[in-house]
Amino acid sequence: MARIARVVPEVSLDRAFDYAIPEALDAQVTLGAKVRVPFKSRQLVGYVVEFPKEPFAGSLKPILEVLSARAFLPAILIDLAQWMAQYYAAPLTVALMSVLPKAVRRADAAFKQRLWVEPLTDVLPEETAAAMKKARAQLAAWEHLRQNGPGWLADLGQIPGCSAAAWRGLAERNLVSIQARTQDRDPFLHAPVAESTPHEMNPEQLAALSAIREEMDAEKPRVVLLRGVTGSGKTEVYLQAIARVLSLGKSALVLVPEIALTPQTVEHFRARFIGRKVGVAVLHSHLSSGERHDQWQHIRAGRARIVIGARSAVFAPLDDLGIIVVDEEHEHSYKQEESPHYHARDVAVMRGHLERVAVVLGSATPSLESYHHAKEGKYRLVELLQRVEEGQMPVTHILDIRSTKKGDAPVLVAPRLIEAIQARLDRQEQAIIFLNRRGYSSSLQCPQCGQVEMCPNCSVALTFHRQAGKLRCHLCDFSSGVPQACPQCGFAPYKYAGSGTEKVEHALVEAFPTARIARMDSDNMRGKDAYAKTLGDFAEGKIDLLVGTQMIAKGLHFPRVTCVGVINADLALQIPDFRAGERVFQLLMQVSGRSGRGQVRGEVFVQTRVPFHPSIQFARHHDYTGFAEQELEFRRSLHYPPYERFVLVTARGRNEEKTLYVLEQLAKEIGKLNLPETEITGPSPAPIARIEERYRFQVFLRTRRIMAVTPRLRPLFMDRAWPDDIRITLDVDPVDLL
Ligand code: ADP
Ligand code: ZN
Repeated sequence: MARIARVVPEVSLDRAFDYAIPEALDAQVTLGAKVRVPFKSRQLVGYVVEFPKEPFAGSLKPILEVLSARAFLPAILIDLAQWMAQYYAAPLTVALMSVLPKAVRRADAAFKQRLWVEPLTDVLPEETAAAMKKARAQLAAWEHLRQNGPGWLADLGQIPGCSAAAWRGLAERNLVSIQARTQDRDPFLHAPVAESTPHEMNPEQLAALSAIREEMDAEKPRVVLLRGVTGSGKTEVYLQAIARVLSLGKSALVLVPEIALTPQTVEHFRARFIGRKVGVAVLHSHLSSGERHDQWQHIRAGRARIVIGARSAVFAPLDDLGIIVVDEEHEHSYKQEESPHYHARDVAVMRGHLERVAVVLGSATPSLESYHHAKEGKYRLVELLQRVEEGQMPVTHILDIRSTKKGDAPVLVAPRLIEAIQARLDRQEQAIIFLNRRGYSSSLQCPQCGQVEMCPNCSVALTFHRQAGKLRCHLCDFSSGVPQACPQCGFAPYKYAGSGTEKVEHALVEAFPTARIARMDSDNMRGKDAYAKTLGDFAEGKIDLLVGTQMIAKGLHFPRVTCVGVINADLALQIPDFRAGERVFQLLMQVSGRSGRGQVRGEVFVQTRVPFHPSIQFARHHDYTGFAEQELEFRRSLHYPPYERFVLVTARGRNEEKTLYVLEQLAKEIGKLNLPETEITGPSPAPIARIEERYRFQVFLRTRRIMAVTPRLRPLFMDRAWPDDIRITLDVDPVDLL
């Protein structure tokens, strides 16, 4: 009897379909193969995910064609997709599609073939030379080739005096060959690096490395939570652990947050392993589709054995994995915003479990989820409490910026911070000024009636951008001019509340007219080159003061920065999210980590209106453990994660009443499931009740038994048609509650 293959076709249904394997294709249809199958009246591309054992009674349609020479998807990624589909209650196809990048799935995905010109001889035979006397372009081309060596026809044809026709002429004379050849779209093409040598590690680093090694050798490795204060040399520990993995002939996967995937980071890894010729691949959102395809195929073919990438790199098709590192594991950018809403750190832990490899989660401020696991003994906690080479943690000063008298103008940059910056300029050191908000002035508020200019599509305040002279919405990109007077009460002029990076930059330019100041935020840093250039200039000392958003808070290492200023630490505390305190603490610890990474001890200045808030006080004393203990207590008493888990169901629609109604019906169905140890609240309006003209309502599930809950929720959401104008999403372990 012919074998049967279960295939997931590329349509968004939550189903796999069985097909017969024709005898002629039997050898080629392997697990993970990419195939063409008949589907209703169409033909679709799909992936073989299983070979079902029980023979199917009816007649099956046959697989038409095998599109990949060998298993296209490694078996482990099929398992991972299946787990994701269950855990995140998502359709299997959606899970499979997030495992397999579009650049690889596309019908025209292929290495780029271009024509390559190469000489066939060193010297021109005499009679050919004679015959070529009049062919000037050909002679010029020949001369160019002799001097510069082989190249792509498209480039050579551009050279003055030698057209493409001239090159073809040379080919006809058998002087050169013109052949199709794969051109690797290599993102490192123009970035050579010098090899780096391992540092001699301090005792803490050695202990961390040996703990990781123990787990690497273990039958069932435990996850290692590496908590290392900023500047403690975590990267060196990763590098030496990876070196071991490579010498065992295995491969390594390193995840970093997109924002930290700077050329600096990638260079560290390339520089250390360039001599081993193992190939380092990068995967991130700035790659072109072609580059992504080529990187993926290199990894799949085993040509790249180290992968560094952002969130989706957790699905890198590496064989023989030896270690997974998740750096800055607490970062929220590891969570995918679209379905299946996976968290790359959690997927990494699952992948490590399935492949039985060591997983290292690193951070100066581990998420409370991971810290809780470590305290319970599920993860192995390893700590680096000292900075390398006797570097000291910076001194943190809290600057209370509450105005003392009524009617005083709010302080933008406190005098003490101004003094501190001046001292840096005098000593030719550098400073970073940090503000967690874009724009010139956050919102436009009438001092008389309190009216705030709101976005007409979203229920958030508009932000004033001075350079553009516009009010802009950060959620939907709506923009408008600035009214001269308050539309509600007619008061003029309007007053700007809050302050943005532009305004801070402006104030600093006024205070320090001769200083070299640069601003870095997502408004003026579109494109990776602007980003790399500004950081490069700062590293080379061409910039004295860097002003920016969280873009500059993470992972950067500039030894000459000895002063960090935080303009308004409170902004993030006002967000209606139970993790607000955790975020502020992490952010303060991260930014202060930018200060004093060289020989001189750093200082940090934190401007705040709530100087005694625990997040600010614990950060001031660099006391992670103290913060974590009291925050966990708070979470426990309120039944928040990590003690209980959340599932967030959101409905979005233009019609308020209808959106609410649909979600109410769904909430009733969820209620009927009688989920174990689960509490359901809502529907209620989301904290941001409207975005892009769509009303938003939420239902919250809070449970102690998440593993029992999501598989039971799943059928309610699969293959289900909602009314056309309503969107329903389901987010397991949400990090964004707004
Ligand atoms: P972290 O990631 O923990 O903030 P890094 O890994 O960036 O810290 O290390 C900070 C700096 O210290 C880097 O320049 C690194 O090369 C250097 N370094 C790491 N380990 C050592 C060591 N044992 N001796 C000297 N320098 C080290
Ligand atoms: Zn808007």
